[in-house]
Amino acid sequence: MLILYSVFFYIFLLIIFILTTVLFFKIEKIKALNSRIDRLQKLVSELDEQAKLIVRTDIELNKTQEELDKKIMALYALQHISREISKNLDESTIFNHVQSSYIEDMGFEKSLIFLWDDKKREFKNVLNIGYSRTEEESITHKLEVDLYLKLIETNKTISSFYSSDELLSKKIKELFKVNLFVIAPILPKEGTKGFIFVGTESSGAVLTAGNEELIGILANQISQALENARLFEKTWQAQQELERKIEEKTMQLSSALEEIKLISKRKTDFVSAVSHELRTPLTSIKGYASILLSESLGPLSEAVKERLEKINRHSNELTKLVNDLLDISRIEAGKIVMKEEVLNLKEIILEVLDLINVQLKEKEIKLTVDLAKDAEYVLADRQQLERVFINLLGNALKFTPPKGKIFIKTSSIDKLCQIDITDTGIGIPQESLRSIFDEFYRVDNPINQQVKGSGLGLSLVKRIVEAHGGNIWVRSKLNEGSTFSFTIPKAEKTG
Ligand code: ADP
Repeated sequence: MLILYSVFFYIFLLIIFILTTVLFFKIEKIKALNSRIDRLQKLVSELDEQAKLIVRTDIELNKTQEELDKKIMALYALQHISREISKNLDESTIFNHVQSSYIEDMGFEKSLIFLWDDKKREFKNVLNIGYSRTEEESITHKLEVDLYLKLIETNKTISSFYSSDELLSKKIKELFKVNLFVIAPILPKEGTKGFIFVGTESSGAVLTAGNEELIGILANQISQALENARLFEKTWQAQQELERKIEEKTMQLSSALEEIKLISKRKTDFVSAVSHELRTPLTSIKGYASILLSESLGPLSEAVKERLEKINRHSNELTKLVNDLLDISRIEAGKIVMKEEVLNLKEIILEVLDLINVQLKEKEIKLTVDLAKDAEYVLADRQQLERVFINLLGNALKFTPPKGKIFIKTSSIDKLCQIDITDTGIGIPQESLRSIFDEFYRVDNPINQQVKGSGLGLSLVKRIVEAHGGNIWVRSKLNEGSTFSFTIPKAEKTG
Protein backbone atom coordinates (compact mmCIF):
# COMPACT_ATOMS: atom_id res chain seq x y z
CA MET A 1 0.00 0.00 0.00
CA LEU A 2 2.81 2.23 0.93
CA ILE A 3 4.48 1.38 -2.25
CA LEU A 4 1.27 2.12 -4.08
CA TYR A 5 1.00 5.44 -2.35
CA SER A 6 4.62 6.16 -3.13
CA VAL A 7 4.05 5.30 -6.74
CA PHE A 8 1.01 7.58 -6.81
CA PHE A 9 2.97 10.23 -5.09
CA TYR A 10 5.73 10.10 -7.63
CA ILE A 11 3.31 9.95 -10.42
CA PHE A 12 1.58 12.97 -8.91
CA LEU A 13 4.91 14.72 -8.58
CA LEU A 14 5.70 13.85 -12.16
CA ILE A 15 2.34 15.18 -13.29
CA ILE A 16 2.87 18.34 -11.24
CA PHE A 17 6.32 18.70 -12.76
CA ILE A 18 5.00 18.14 -16.25
CA LEU A 19 2.13 20.57 -15.66
CA THR A 20 4.47 23.15 -14.18
CA THR A 21 6.78 22.77 -17.15
CA VAL A 22 3.85 23.03 -19.58
CA LEU A 23 2.55 26.04 -17.64
CA PHE A 24 5.96 27.62 -17.67
CA PHE A 25 6.20 27.26 -21.42
CA LYS A 26 2.65 28.51 -21.84
CA ILE A 27 3.45 31.55 -19.71
CA GLU A 28 6.58 32.16 -21.75
CA LYS A 29 4.55 31.85 -24.95
CA ILE A 30 1.90 34.21 -23.61
CA LYS A 31 4.67 36.64 -22.67
CA ALA A 32 6.09 36.37 -26.16
CA LEU A 33 2.63 36.81 -27.59
CA ASN A 34 2.04 39.78 -25.34
CA SER A 35 5.25 41.45 -26.46
CA ARG A 36 4.30 40.78 -30.07
CA ILE A 37 0.87 42.24 -29.42
CA ASP A 38 2.61 45.25 -27.85
CA ARG A 39 4.80 45.60 -30.90
CA LEU A 40 1.82 45.22 -33.16
CA GLN A 41 -0.10 47.81 -31.17
CA LYS A 42 2.88 50.17 -31.47
CA LEU A 43 2.98 49.46 -35.16
CA VAL A 44 -0.76 50.07 -35.44
CA SER A 45 -0.48 53.36 -33.57
CA GLU A 46 2.50 54.35 -35.70
CA LEU A 47 0.49 53.50 -38.79
CA ASP A 48 -2.36 55.51 -37.39
CA GLU A 49 -0.03 58.45 -36.84
CA GLN A 50 1.25 58.10 -40.38
CA ALA A 51 -2.28 57.92 -41.76
CA LYS A 52 -3.15 61.07 -39.85
CA LEU A 53 0.01 62.70 -41.19
CA ILE A 54 -0.93 61.68 -44.72
CA VAL A 55 -4.39 63.14 -44.30
CA ARG A 56 -2.93 66.30 -42.80
CA THR A 57 -0.35 66.55 -45.60
CA ASP A 58 -3.10 65.98 -48.13
CA ILE A 59 -5.13 68.80 -46.65
CA GLU A 60 -2.02 71.00 -46.57
CA LEU A 61 -1.26 70.07 -50.16
CA ASN A 62 -4.79 70.93 -51.25
CA LYS A 63 -4.50 74.23 -49.47
CA THR A 64 -1.13 74.93 -51.05
CA GLN A 65 -2.54 73.93 -54.44
CA GLU A 66 -5.42 76.33 -53.90
CA GLU A 67 -3.04 79.10 -52.91
CA LEU A 68 -0.86 78.30 -55.86
CA ASP A 69 -3.86 78.45 -58.17
CA LYS A 70 -4.78 81.80 -56.67
CA LYS A 71 -1.22 83.05 -57.13
CA ILE A 72 -1.15 81.86 -60.72
CA MET A 73 -4.48 83.61 -61.31
CA ALA A 74 -3.11 86.73 -59.68
CA LEU A 75 0.02 86.54 -61.82
CA TYR A 76 -2.10 86.15 -64.94
CA ALA A 77 -4.16 89.14 -63.86
CA LEU A 78 -0.97 91.11 -63.32
CA GLN A 79 0.21 90.14 -66.78
CA HIS A 80 -3.13 91.21 -68.31
CA ILE A 81 -3.07 94.57 -66.57
CA SER A 82 0.57 95.14 -67.55
CA ARG A 83 -0.25 94.37 -71.17
CA GLU A 84 -3.28 96.67 -71.17
CA ILE A 85 -1.50 99.61 -69.61
CA SER A 86 1.65 99.27 -71.68
CA LYS A 87 -0.40 99.18 -74.92
CA ASN A 88 -1.49 102.74 -74.36
CA LEU A 89 0.91 105.64 -74.62
CA ASP A 90 -1.53 108.35 -73.64
CA GLU A 91 -1.36 109.12 -69.91
CA SER A 92 -5.03 110.08 -69.70
CA THR A 93 -6.30 106.80 -71.14
CA ILE A 94 -3.74 104.33 -69.78
CA PHE A 95 -6.14 102.74 -67.31
CA ASN A 96 -9.21 102.61 -69.56
CA HIS A 97 -8.91 98.89 -70.19
CA VAL A 98 -8.11 97.65 -66.68
CA GLN A 99 -11.03 95.32 -65.88
CA SER A 100 -12.42 94.65 -62.41
CA SER A 101 -11.94 90.90 -62.94
CA TYR A 102 -8.17 91.39 -63.03
CA ILE A 103 -8.23 93.08 -59.63
CA GLU A 104 -10.55 90.34 -58.29
CA ASP A 105 -8.14 87.69 -59.53
CA MET A 106 -5.49 89.37 -57.45
CA GLY A 107 -7.65 88.88 -54.35
CA PHE A 108 -9.37 92.27 -54.10
CA GLU A 109 -12.67 93.65 -55.27
CA LYS A 110 -11.92 97.33 -54.86
CA SER A 111 -9.25 99.47 -56.41
CA LEU A 112 -8.51 103.15 -56.88
CA ILE A 113 -5.57 104.79 -58.62
CA PHE A 114 -4.74 108.39 -57.85
CA LEU A 115 -2.27 110.54 -59.76
CA TRP A 116 -0.83 113.77 -58.42
CA ASP A 117 -1.71 116.98 -60.26
CA ASP A 118 1.23 119.23 -59.50
CA LYS A 119 -0.42 122.38 -60.84
CA LYS A 120 -3.68 122.03 -58.90
CA ARG A 121 -1.86 120.36 -55.98
CA GLU A 122 -4.44 117.63 -55.63
CA PHE A 123 -4.89 113.94 -56.30
CA LYS A 124 -6.92 113.03 -59.36
CA ASN A 125 -8.64 109.67 -59.64
CA VAL A 126 -7.82 107.74 -62.82
CA LEU A 127 -9.15 104.25 -62.01
CA ASN A 128 -12.18 103.23 -59.99
CA ILE A 129 -13.14 99.64 -59.41
CA GLY A 130 -15.79 98.71 -56.86
CA TYR A 131 -16.84 102.21 -55.72
CA SER A 132 -19.78 104.37 -56.74
CA ARG A 133 -19.04 107.83 -58.15
CA THR A 134 -20.20 109.44 -54.90
CA GLU A 135 -17.98 107.15 -52.82
CA GLU A 136 -15.06 107.88 -55.08
CA GLU A 137 -15.63 111.63 -54.81
CA SER A 138 -15.93 111.42 -51.07
CA ILE A 139 -12.66 109.44 -50.78
CA THR A 140 -10.85 111.83 -53.13
CA HIS A 141 -12.16 114.76 -51.09
CA LYS A 142 -11.04 113.27 -47.78
CA LEU A 143 -7.57 112.13 -48.94
CA GLU A 144 -4.89 113.61 -46.72
CA VAL A 145 -2.62 115.02 -49.41
CA ASP A 146 0.52 115.30 -47.25
CA LEU A 147 0.18 111.80 -45.87
CA TYR A 148 -0.09 110.19 -49.30
CA LEU A 149 2.59 112.39 -50.83
CA LYS A 150 4.92 111.25 -48.04
CA LEU A 151 3.95 107.64 -48.68
CA ILE A 152 4.83 108.06 -52.35
CA GLU A 153 8.10 109.84 -51.69
CA THR A 154 9.31 107.18 -49.25
CA ASN A 155 8.42 104.61 -51.92
CA LYS A 156 7.04 102.04 -49.50
CA THR A 157 4.18 99.62 -50.01
CA ILE A 158 1.92 99.44 -46.97
CA SER A 159 -0.77 96.92 -46.16
CA SER A 160 -3.27 96.13 -43.45
CA PHE A 161 -1.69 92.73 -42.80
CA TYR A 162 1.94 93.79 -42.49
CA SER A 163 1.58 97.31 -41.21
CA SER A 164 3.58 98.36 -38.19
CA ASP A 165 1.46 101.47 -37.89
CA GLU A 166 -1.90 100.32 -36.52
CA LEU A 167 -3.31 103.85 -36.40
CA LEU A 168 -2.51 104.55 -40.05
CA SER A 169 -3.87 101.16 -41.03
CA LYS A 170 -7.13 101.90 -39.20
CA LYS A 171 -7.39 105.33 -40.82
CA ILE A 172 -6.99 103.86 -44.29
CA LYS A 173 -9.50 101.08 -43.60
CA GLU A 174 -12.05 103.65 -42.50
CA LEU A 175 -11.48 105.96 -45.43
CA PHE A 176 -11.66 103.23 -48.06
CA LYS A 177 -14.27 101.16 -46.17
CA VAL A 178 -12.33 97.89 -46.36
CA ASN A 179 -10.97 95.28 -43.97
CA LEU A 180 -7.79 94.44 -45.82
CA PHE A 181 -5.84 96.68 -48.15
CA VAL A 182 -2.55 97.32 -49.93
CA ILE A 183 -1.33 100.77 -50.98
CA ALA A 184 1.66 100.96 -53.29
CA PRO A 185 3.36 104.12 -54.57
CA ILE A 186 3.57 104.89 -58.27
CA LEU A 187 6.84 106.71 -58.73
CA PRO A 188 8.03 106.94 -62.34
CA LYS A 189 11.43 108.51 -63.09
CA GLU A 190 9.60 110.80 -65.50
CA GLY A 191 5.94 111.60 -65.43
CA THR A 192 3.14 111.84 -62.93
CA LYS A 193 3.50 110.17 -59.54
CA GLY A 194 0.61 108.67 -57.58
CA PHE A 195 -0.51 105.54 -55.76
CA ILE A 196 -2.63 102.47 -56.24
CA PHE A 197 -5.03 101.28 -53.57
CA VAL A 198 -6.54 97.78 -53.57
CA GLY A 199 -8.76 96.41 -50.85
CA THR A 200 -11.37 93.91 -49.83
CA GLU A 201 -14.34 94.17 -47.52
CA SER A 202 -14.17 90.51 -46.57
CA SER A 203 -12.40 90.06 -43.27
CA GLY A 204 -12.00 86.33 -43.86
CA ALA A 205 -9.93 86.78 -47.01
CA VAL A 206 -6.53 85.18 -46.84
CA LEU A 207 -3.97 87.67 -47.98
CA THR A 208 -0.24 87.14 -47.69
CA ALA A 209 3.01 88.94 -48.26
CA GLY A 210 2.75 87.59 -51.82
CA ASN A 211 -0.36 89.70 -52.49
CA GLU A 212 1.41 92.76 -51.18
CA GLU A 213 4.44 92.01 -53.33
CA LEU A 214 2.22 91.55 -56.40
CA ILE A 215 0.60 94.96 -55.92
CA GLY A 216 4.10 96.42 -55.53
CA ILE A 217 5.04 94.89 -58.88
CA LEU A 218 1.81 96.22 -60.43
CA ALA A 219 2.63 99.71 -59.13
CA ASN A 220 6.08 99.43 -60.73
CA GLN A 221 4.52 98.38 -64.03
CA ILE A 222 2.19 101.38 -63.85
CA SER A 223 5.19 103.62 -63.12
CA GLN A 224 6.92 102.16 -66.17
CA ALA A 225 3.83 102.70 -68.35
CA LEU A 226 3.53 106.31 -67.17
CA GLU A 227 7.24 106.80 -67.83
CA ASN A 228 6.83 105.43 -71.35
CA ALA A 229 3.80 107.66 -71.91
CA ARG A 230 5.77 110.69 -70.77
CA LEU A 231 8.75 109.80 -72.95
CA PHE A 232 6.43 109.21 -75.89
CA GLU A 233 4.74 112.54 -75.24
CA LYS A 234 8.15 114.23 -75.08
CA THR A 235 9.35 112.53 -78.28
CA TRP A 236 6.08 113.34 -79.99
CA GLN A 237 6.29 116.97 -78.94
CA ALA A 238 9.95 117.12 -80.02
CA GLN A 239 8.98 115.62 -83.35
CA GLN A 240 6.13 118.11 -83.75
CA GLU A 241 8.53 120.91 -82.91
CA LEU A 242 11.07 119.54 -85.38
CA GLU A 243 8.44 119.21 -88.07
CA ARG A 244 7.31 122.76 -87.42
CA LYS A 245 10.89 124.02 -87.60
CA ILE A 246 11.56 122.02 -90.77
CA GLU A 247 8.39 123.42 -92.32
CA GLU A 248 9.38 126.94 -91.29
CA LYS A 249 12.93 126.48 -92.63
CA THR A 250 11.64 124.87 -95.83
CA MET A 251 9.39 127.85 -96.37
CA GLN A 252 12.26 130.23 -95.69
CA LEU A 253 14.52 128.22 -97.98
CA SER A 254 12.01 128.01 -100.78
CA SER A 255 11.39 131.74 -100.65
CA ALA A 256 15.18 132.27 -100.56
CA LEU A 257 15.47 129.86 -103.48
CA GLU A 258 12.83 131.77 -105.40
CA GLU A 259 14.76 134.95 -104.72
CA ILE A 260 18.04 133.33 -105.80
CA LYS A 261 16.35 132.04 -108.94
CA LEU A 262 15.08 135.52 -109.68
CA ILE A 263 18.48 137.10 -109.06
CA SER A 264 20.15 134.38 -111.11
CA LYS A 265 17.67 134.94 -113.94
CA ARG A 266 18.28 138.67 -113.79
CA LYS A 267 22.05 138.06 -113.84
CA THR A 268 21.74 135.65 -116.77
CA ASP A 269 19.51 138.08 -118.63
CA PHE A 270 21.93 140.89 -117.89
CA VAL A 271 25.02 138.90 -118.95
CA SER A 272 23.18 137.70 -122.00
CA ALA A 273 22.08 141.23 -122.97
CA VAL A 274 25.50 142.76 -122.31
CA SER A 275 27.32 140.00 -124.19
CA HIS A 276 24.93 140.40 -127.07
CA GLU A 277 25.39 144.16 -127.13
CA LEU A 278 29.17 143.73 -127.00
CA ARG A 279 29.27 141.39 -129.95
CA THR A 280 28.11 143.97 -132.53
CA PRO A 281 30.72 146.66 -131.76
CA LEU A 282 33.34 143.94 -131.42
CA THR A 283 32.56 142.65 -134.90
CA SER A 284 32.87 146.22 -136.22
CA ILE A 285 36.21 146.76 -134.46
CA LYS A 286 37.51 143.47 -135.88
CA GLY A 287 36.16 144.36 -139.34
CA TYR A 288 37.73 147.83 -139.39
CA ALA A 289 41.04 146.48 -138.10
CA SER A 290 41.04 143.88 -140.91
CA ILE A 291 40.25 146.54 -143.55
CA LEU A 292 43.04 148.74 -142.26
CA LEU A 293 45.44 145.76 -142.06
CA SER A 294 44.66 144.82 -145.67
CA GLU A 295 46.10 148.30 -146.56
CA SER A 296 43.28 148.81 -149.04
CA LEU A 297 42.87 152.30 -147.56
CA GLY A 298 46.53 153.09 -147.93
CA PRO A 299 49.90 151.74 -146.86
CA LEU A 300 50.61 151.45 -143.12
CA SER A 301 53.77 151.91 -141.14
CA GLU A 302 55.14 148.87 -139.24
CA ALA A 303 54.25 150.49 -135.91
CA VAL A 304 50.61 151.00 -137.00
CA LYS A 305 50.45 147.42 -138.38
CA GLU A 306 51.75 146.05 -135.10
CA ARG A 307 49.10 148.01 -133.14
CA LEU A 308 46.35 146.92 -135.52
CA GLU A 309 47.39 143.25 -135.16
CA LYS A 310 47.18 143.69 -131.39
CA ILE A 311 43.67 145.17 -131.79
CA ASN A 312 42.76 142.16 -133.93
CA ARG A 313 44.16 139.63 -131.40
CA HIS A 314 42.53 141.31 -128.43
CA SER A 315 39.19 141.56 -130.18
CA ASN A 316 39.44 137.83 -130.98
CA GLU A 317 40.04 137.08 -127.28
CA LEU A 318 37.21 139.40 -126.34
CA THR A 319 34.89 137.74 -128.85
CA LYS A 320 35.72 134.30 -127.38
CA LEU A 321 35.09 135.62 -123.87
CA VAL A 322 31.80 137.20 -124.90
CA ASN A 323 30.76 134.01 -126.72
CA ASP A 324 31.62 131.83 -123.72
CA LEU A 325 29.73 134.14 -121.39
CA LEU A 326 26.75 134.19 -123.72
CA ASP A 327 26.77 130.39 -123.95
CA ILE A 328 27.05 129.95 -120.20
CA SER A 329 24.06 132.16 -119.61
CA ARG A 330 22.13 130.56 -122.46
CA ILE A 331 22.73 127.01 -121.18
CA GLU A 332 21.87 128.18 -117.67
CA ALA A 333 18.61 129.64 -118.93
CA GLY A 334 17.91 126.45 -120.86
CA LYS A 335 17.99 128.37 -124.11
CA ILE A 336 20.53 126.01 -125.70
CA VAL A 337 19.02 122.57 -126.17
CA MET A 338 21.66 119.85 -126.49
CA LYS A 339 21.19 117.76 -129.60
CA GLU A 340 21.08 114.01 -129.06
CA GLU A 341 23.39 112.62 -131.72
CA VAL A 342 24.93 109.16 -131.66
CA LEU A 343 28.61 110.01 -131.73
CA ASN A 344 31.67 107.86 -132.07
CA LEU A 345 33.95 108.97 -129.22
CA LYS A 346 37.09 107.91 -131.03
CA GLU A 347 36.22 110.18 -133.98
CA ILE A 348 35.58 113.18 -131.73
CA ILE A 349 38.82 112.66 -129.81
CA LEU A 350 40.84 112.30 -133.01
CA GLU A 351 39.32 115.47 -134.44
CA VAL A 352 40.20 117.45 -131.34
CA LEU A 353 43.68 115.96 -131.24
CA ASP A 354 44.12 117.17 -134.78
CA LEU A 355 43.54 120.71 -133.54
CA ILE A 356 46.13 120.56 -130.77
CA ASN A 357 48.65 118.34 -132.50
CA VAL A 358 51.01 121.19 -133.36
CA GLN A 359 51.16 122.41 -129.76
CA LEU A 360 51.64 118.84 -128.50
CA LYS A 361 54.61 118.45 -130.78
CA GLU A 362 55.99 121.86 -129.86
CA LYS A 363 55.99 120.97 -126.16
CA GLU A 364 57.05 117.36 -126.85
CA ILE A 365 54.14 116.08 -124.81
CA LYS A 366 53.34 112.39 -125.15
CA LEU A 367 49.61 111.71 -125.43
CA THR A 368 48.12 108.26 -124.85
CA VAL A 369 44.54 107.25 -125.64
CA ASP A 370 42.92 104.20 -124.04
CA LEU A 371 39.37 103.59 -125.30
CA ALA A 372 37.00 101.09 -123.75
CA LYS A 373 35.24 98.75 -126.17
CA ASP A 374 31.93 98.99 -124.36
CA ALA A 375 31.89 102.80 -124.38
CA GLU A 376 32.41 103.51 -128.04
CA TYR A 377 29.27 105.52 -128.73
CA VAL A 378 27.76 108.39 -126.79
CA LEU A 379 24.57 110.38 -127.08
CA ALA A 380 25.59 114.04 -127.23
CA ASP A 381 25.70 117.30 -129.12
CA ARG A 382 28.77 117.00 -131.38
CA GLN A 383 29.75 120.69 -131.29
CA GLN A 384 29.31 120.98 -127.53
CA LEU A 385 31.15 117.72 -126.78
CA GLU A 386 34.02 118.92 -128.94
CA ARG A 387 34.11 122.14 -126.88
CA VAL A 388 34.41 120.05 -123.72
CA PHE A 389 37.37 118.11 -125.13
CA ILE A 390 38.99 121.26 -126.56
CA ASN A 391 38.78 123.05 -123.21
CA LEU A 392 39.96 120.13 -121.06
CA LEU A 393 42.75 119.06 -123.44
CA GLY A 394 43.70 122.72 -123.99
CA ASN A 395 44.11 123.16 -120.23
CA ALA A 396 46.03 119.90 -119.87
CA LEU A 397 48.35 121.12 -122.60
CA LYS A 398 48.63 124.61 -121.12
CA PHE A 399 49.39 123.49 -117.56
CA THR A 400 51.76 120.61 -118.40
CA PRO A 401 55.42 121.50 -118.79
CA PRO A 402 57.32 120.35 -121.93
CA LYS A 403 58.05 116.61 -122.18
CA GLY A 404 55.08 115.85 -119.91
CA LYS A 405 52.36 113.31 -120.49
CA ILE A 406 48.61 113.39 -121.14
CA PHE A 407 46.32 110.34 -120.97
CA ILE A 408 42.80 110.02 -122.30
CA LYS A 409 40.89 107.05 -120.96
CA THR A 410 37.27 106.05 -121.50
CA SER A 411 35.34 103.47 -119.51
CA SER A 412 31.76 102.29 -119.25
CA ILE A 413 29.76 102.76 -116.05
CA ASP A 414 26.19 101.46 -116.34
CA LYS A 415 24.44 103.75 -118.82
CA LEU A 416 27.22 106.30 -118.81
CA CYS A 417 30.58 106.65 -120.40
CA GLN A 418 33.31 108.09 -118.19
CA ILE A 419 36.15 110.05 -119.75
CA ASP A 420 39.31 110.76 -117.72
CA ILE A 421 41.84 113.29 -118.93
CA THR A 422 45.01 113.04 -116.88
CA ASP A 423 48.10 115.20 -117.15
CA THR A 424 51.44 115.36 -115.41
CA GLY A 425 51.19 119.13 -115.11
CA ILE A 426 51.55 121.65 -112.30
CA GLY A 427 48.41 120.42 -110.50
CA ILE A 428 45.85 122.42 -108.57
CA PRO A 429 46.18 123.35 -104.89
CA GLN A 430 43.71 121.53 -102.65
CA GLU A 431 41.99 124.73 -101.52
CA SER A 432 41.24 125.72 -105.16
CA LEU A 433 39.54 122.46 -106.10
CA ARG A 434 36.18 123.60 -104.73
CA SER A 435 36.08 126.74 -106.88
CA ILE A 436 37.73 125.44 -110.01
CA PHE A 437 34.42 125.22 -111.93
CA ASP A 438 33.28 128.71 -110.86
CA GLU A 439 33.05 131.48 -113.43
CA PHE A 440 36.21 133.59 -113.75
CA TYR A 441 38.10 131.47 -111.23
CA ARG A 442 41.78 131.09 -112.00
CA VAL A 443 44.51 129.71 -109.76
CA ASP A 444 47.29 132.12 -109.01
CA ASN A 445 50.19 130.22 -110.58
CA PRO A 446 53.18 131.17 -112.79
CA ILE A 447 51.54 129.84 -115.98
CA ASN A 448 48.38 131.88 -115.44
CA GLN A 449 50.52 134.95 -114.81
CA GLN A 450 52.12 134.50 -118.25
CA VAL A 451 49.28 133.06 -120.36
CA LYS A 452 46.03 134.91 -120.62
CA GLY A 453 42.77 133.21 -119.82
CA SER A 454 39.24 134.08 -118.84
CA GLY A 455 38.49 131.50 -116.17
CA LEU A 456 35.32 130.67 -118.07
CA GLY A 457 36.40 127.45 -119.82
CA LEU A 458 35.74 124.98 -116.98
CA SER A 459 32.52 126.76 -116.03
CA LEU A 460 31.26 126.34 -119.59
CA VAL A 461 32.44 122.70 -119.71
CA LYS A 462 30.57 121.91 -116.47
CA ARG A 463 27.36 123.42 -117.81
CA ILE A 464 27.62 121.51 -121.10
CA VAL A 465 28.28 118.20 -119.32
CA GLU A 466 25.43 118.75 -116.89
CA ALA A 467 23.07 119.78 -119.67
CA HIS A 468 23.77 116.33 -121.16
CA GLY A 469 22.82 114.69 -117.84
CA GLY A 470 26.44 113.98 -116.93
CA ASN A 471 28.79 114.99 -114.14
CA ILE A 472 32.25 116.47 -113.93
CA TRP A 473 34.87 116.37 -111.16
CA VAL A 474 38.57 116.80 -110.65
CA ARG A 475 41.34 115.11 -108.66
CA SER A 476 44.68 116.82 -108.47
CA LYS A 477 47.97 116.92 -106.60
CA LEU A 478 50.12 120.01 -106.68
CA ASN A 479 53.25 119.56 -108.82
CA GLU A 480 52.17 116.04 -109.79
CA GLY A 481 49.24 116.49 -112.14
CA SER A 482 45.46 116.55 -112.47
CA THR A 483 42.69 114.28 -113.69
CA PHE A 484 39.48 115.83 -115.00
CA SER A 485 36.72 113.22 -115.27
CA PHE A 486 33.27 113.59 -116.77
CA THR A 487 30.40 111.34 -117.71
CA ILE A 488 28.13 111.45 -120.73
CA PRO A 489 25.23 109.12 -121.63
CA LYS A 490 26.16 106.08 -123.68
CA ALA A 491 24.29 105.55 -126.95
CA GLU A 492 22.22 102.37 -127.33
CA LYS A 493 23.93 101.68 -130.62
CA THR A 494 27.18 99.84 -130.08
CA GLY A 495 28.42 99.26 -133.56
P1 ADP B 1 41.41 129.43 -117.96
O1 ADP B 1 42.10 128.24 -118.45
O2 ADP B 1 40.97 130.35 -119.03
O3 ADP B 1 42.08 130.12 -116.84
P2 ADP B 1 39.48 127.55 -117.04
O4 ADP B 1 38.12 127.75 -116.53
O5 ADP B 1 39.63 126.64 -118.20
O6 ADP B 1 40.03 128.96 -117.34
O7 ADP B 1 40.38 127.05 -115.88
C1 ADP B 1 40.31 127.68 -114.64
C2 ADP B 1 41.60 127.47 -113.86
O8 ADP B 1 41.71 126.11 -113.49
C3 ADP B 1 42.82 127.71 -114.64
O9 ADP B 1 43.16 129.06 -114.64
C4 ADP B 1 43.86 126.89 -113.90
O10 ADP B 1 44.34 127.61 -112.80
C5 ADP B 1 43.07 125.72 -113.44
N1 ADP B 1 43.22 124.53 -114.30
C6 ADP B 1 42.35 124.08 -115.23
N2 ADP B 1 42.83 122.95 -115.80
C7 ADP B 1 44.01 122.68 -115.22
C8 ADP B 1 45.00 121.64 -115.36
N3 ADP B 1 44.84 120.65 -116.24
N4 ADP B 1 46.09 121.69 -114.57
C9 ADP B 1 46.28 122.68 -113.69
N5 ADP B 1 45.37 123.68 -113.48
C10 ADP B 1 44.27 123.68 -114.24
